[in-house]
Amino acid sequence: MHLAQQTILVVMMVVFSSTLVMGAGLVLALRASDAGRLWASGHVVASGAGLVVALGASAGTGSIQVAALGAGGYLVGRLMIYRGVRVYYGLPDHRLLLRGIGLITVVLLALASGLADGPLLVHGVAYGMLAMLSFSTIVTMLRSRRGRTSIGGPLVLASHLVLLGAQIAALSYGAAFKGLAITPFFLQTSASVWPLAPLVAVLLGLFGFSLMAMEQIIARNESGARLDALTGLLNRGALDVTAMGMVARWQRGGEPLSCLVIDVDHFKAVNDRHGHHAGDHVLREIATALDNSRRASDIAGRYGGEEFCILCPHTDEHQATALANRILRKVRLIELPAGEGAGCGHASVSIGVAQLRGGPAGREGLWRTLFAEADRALYAAKQRGRDQFVVGSSMVVEAAGTAAPQATADATDPADVPAFATTG
Ligand code: GH3
Ligand code: MG
Ligand code: MG
Repeated sequence: MHLAQQTILVVMMVVFSSTLVMGAGLVLALRASDAGRLWASGHVVASGAGLVVALGASAGTGSIQVAALGAGGYLVGRLMIYRGVRVYYGLPDHRLLLRGIGLITVVLLALASGLADGPLLVHGVAYGMLAMLSFSTIVTMLRSRRGRTSIGGPLVLASHLVLLGAQIAALSYGAAFKGLAITPFFLQTSASVWPLAPLVAVLLGLFGFSLMAMEQIIARNESGARLDALTGLLNRGALDVTAMGMVARWQRGGEPLSCLVIDVDHFKAVNDRHGHHAGDHVLREIATALDNSRRASDIAGRYGGEEFCILCPHTDEHQATALANRILRKVRLIELPAGEGAGCGHASVSIGVAQLRGGPAGREGLWRTLFAEADRALYAAKQRGRDQFVVGSSMVVEAAGTAAPQATADATDPADVPAFATTG
C-alpha cells in the first residue's frame, strides 16, 4: 500500500499535535520524577519541531531552512529524552556534553542547509545523529538491570528499535537517491506506509516513558510510606506488617524467630543539652549502627521516638545475643556532640532480647507476645544500669527463683560508659 505525501503530512501533524499536547500535560503530571520531566519536555520540543517541518512542507514552501530548523529542534528534543534515560538509570547525565552535541548539530544543519547539496546533507546529519541517539538509548537500557522489572521499559525499547530501523533505512535511502530532491525528515519519495512506522514508534515511546516515570513515582511513594523519614529504617507500620509475615513463617516451619527491642539511654538529656537537631543526628547515627550490625535477613525498624526493633528470622535468642553485643559495641563508638565545658561522651543503648516460643493463637497475638517479652527484658536492662542487654527467658528463670544467669553484655570499659549515663 502506498500513501500520498499529503496523507503522510496530515498523519505527521495529527501525531505531533497529540504528542505536543500530551507532553505538555505530562510535564506537570510527571514533575515528581526528574527523568519524567525531561521525557515530557523532550517530547514537547521534538513534537513542536516535527510540526514545524510538517507545516513547512504542507505550505508548499518546502524551504530547506525550515526543514533544517525543524530537524535541529527535533534532535534537541530527542537529546533531552536521552538525558532523561540516563537520569532514570542513575547514570551521569552528561548535561554539558549533550548540550554541546545539540548546539554543534544545530549549527551544522544550519550551515548544510545553505550549501548546494543542502537537502541531502541535512537529511544525512539529522538521521545520522538520530540513529546514534536511538542506538545509545537502546544500549543504555539493555545494560541497566532496572529496565527489566518495568512495564514501560520494553515499550520504550521496542519504540527505539523501530526508530533505529527507520533512521538507518532513511540514511541508506538518502545515499541511494543522491541528487534527488528529497524532502528531509520523515518524508521519503517512495510514498509507502513505512514513513508511518517512526510516527507510531514516537507515540509508543511516549506511552512507555510515561509508564516508566509513573512506576518510579509510585515505587517512591510506596517506599516513602514504609520508611521512617529521619532514619531511613522501616517505620512502625511496615515493621508490624513484616513481623506478621515472619510470625506466619515461624508458624509454618518452626524456624526460631527472635526480636531485639532497643532504646537509647538518657536520650532526653542529649536533646536537653545539645538541642533537638543534634539529637536527630545522634538518632541517625545509631540507626546506621543498627543497620550495619544486622544480617541481611534481619529487619530493622524505628518503633517510635528513640526506640528501635530488629527482627531476626532463623535465629534463636542465643544467636540474637551476638547481634545485641555487636550493637552495644558499635553504639558505644558514637560520640555525642561536645557540650559546654564537657569532653564529649558516647552514646549507649539498652536492649531486650526475646525468642518467640508460643502464645495466643493468631499472628498478631504472637507478635505482640514476642514484642512484649523483649520490651520487658529492655526494661530490666534499664533497671540494671543501661548499656547492656537482657534476655527475656533469663527473667522467667529469675521469676521462678532459680539462680539467674546474668544474660547481659560483658562489662564495659569505663571509658566507654556514656558521660550522661553516669550523671543521669
Ligand atoms: P532512658 O534511658 O530511660 O530511655 O531515658 P531517655 O531519656 O532516653 O527516655 P525518655 O523516654 O525520658 O526520653 C526520650 C526522649 O527522646 C524524649 C524525646 O524528646 C526524645 N525523642 C523522641 N523522638 C525524637 C526524635 O525524633 N528526635 C529527637 N531529637 N528526640 C526525640
Ligand atoms: Mg531512652
Ligand atoms: Mg524510650
